Amino acid sequence: MPARVLVVDDLLPNIRLLQARLTAEYYEVLTAQSGAEALAICARGGCDLVLLDVMMPGMDGFETCARIKAAPESAHIPGVMVTALDQPSDRVRGLEAGADDFLTKPVDELALMARVRSLSRLKTMLDDLRERAKTAAALGFPAHDPDGFAVDKGRILIVDDQPRSSARLVDSLGGRFETHVEAQSQEALFRAAQGLHELVVVSMGLAHFDPLRLCSQLRSLESTRDLPILMVADLDDRMRVLRGLDLGANDYILRPIDRNELLARVRTQIRRKFYADALRENVRASIELAMLDGLTGLFNRRHFDLNLPKLIESCLSRRRPLSLLVFDIDHFKRINDTHGHDVGDQVLRLLAQRLRGALRQSDLICRLGGEEFAVIMPDTDLDRAASVGNRVRLAIAEYPFAVGQGRGPIDVTISAGVAGAVEGLSPEMLYRRADAGLYRSKQAGRNRVCAAAA
Ligand code: GH3
Ligand code: MG
Ligand code: MG
Repeated sequence: MPARVLVVDDLLPNIRLLQARLTAEYYEVLTAQSGAEALAICARGGCDLVLLDVMMPGMDGFETCARIKAAPESAHIPGVMVTALDQPSDRVRGLEAGADDFLTKPVDELALMARVRSLSRLKTMLDDLRERAKTAAALGFPAHDPDGFAVDKGRILIVDDQPRSSARLVDSLGGRFETHVEAQSQEALFRAAQGLHELVVVSMGLAHFDPLRLCSQLRSLESTRDLPILMVADLDDRMRVLRGLDLGANDYILRPIDRNELLARVRTQIRRKFYADALRENVRASIELAMLDGLTGLFNRRHFDLNLPKLIESCLSRRRPLSLLVFDIDHFKRINDTHGHDVGDQVLRLLAQRLRGALRQSDLICRLGGEEFAVIMPDTDLDRAASVGNRVRLAIAEYPFAVGQGRGPIDVTISAGVAGAVEGLSPEMLYRRADAGLYRSKQAGRNRVCAAAA
């Protein structure tokens, strides 16, 4: 879907000019002739990006921007100030009001398009993350508070091979942030990939390597894909800056560097990084929550049901065997009745630990419910699975469970069944076969492993 850009200006000819350019690039354009009108559109969630004129009668652009950023429903819409003012102090005022960038009138077409493209891409990425994090919250996972990050805790990697220029950057940033300087492209990439930084500042005036190649490499590496990049450039590096934005760099600042502008831009990037990281962490945790059993940390029934068919298919198509082990704790009810439910839970947790110790990484260990477990063993034939089952059985029965809480250790045993996948046998049937083996083990006196009767 094309991004929707809101153009705000009190003068109609200015609106028309930007509207024509954006429409030609297939953006959807909305217009507003006052701050109040713009606020109403943003509150409705109608746009992905706002281009804001600064000088307007009544509510000016700064105030409009600050209000957009202050309202929770519109705080995440990127804003660009479009202005005839071009003093660093004006830029800083806009950035402090929450604007993401400045464009100077008359608006340069290339700069406009590069900005609009990169900011709408950012908006899409964050919207997507927020959506997934919302799903996470709906699953009951407590969301991180994206506000209130200590932005000044950010660590910055400065990539610059000109000592004077890097010293100036360190001087401007060093007081507030932890900074590291790297003068070599490969070293910089390596450092960035360690994930210890919240921002990379890349000088476009490198003498010994191509800064754009570095930007592109940072974007293609998995570990640095989401690391913000701020370019530092001279006025005549304009084309390179635009190219950099298209490659995925997030922002730029032109020399001579105004310290306050630099700080404002750096803070914006770092705040956004912390925010995106928190959203990503929420999403990751919710995925984990959806597939893991809360008590034992083993995979849950849902994950088992989803993956058994896939794993069977993947093994049989490679003419490899797959076996399934299912087991159930013997007389678990007695343990609960004698020692209480909490001790029962503790036994389940300790048992999960012993399972992890007795099985391979490639085995999928699941708690199917209550005191019933399953282990999917890819690349394992039935004989081998039976001996693995026996190893698991011994790992449980070998020595009693120390449950603590001033109680003596508890003897625990399991009864297990095994079955092997064969062409034409459904996952449900495979499970039933293994369960039939389990039933035989219970019948035969427990604490043993059986296959189903032939
Ligand atoms: P058998 O050897 O035939 O399997 O006997 P059993 O007592 O283990 O089997 P039964 O199915 O009669 O009882 C299972 C018990 O497991 C009953 C139930 O309260 C208990 N249980 C199920 N889930 C949990 C749990 O999450 N925590 C605890 N502490 N107990 C649980
Ligand atoms: Mg049982
Ligand atoms: Mg049972």
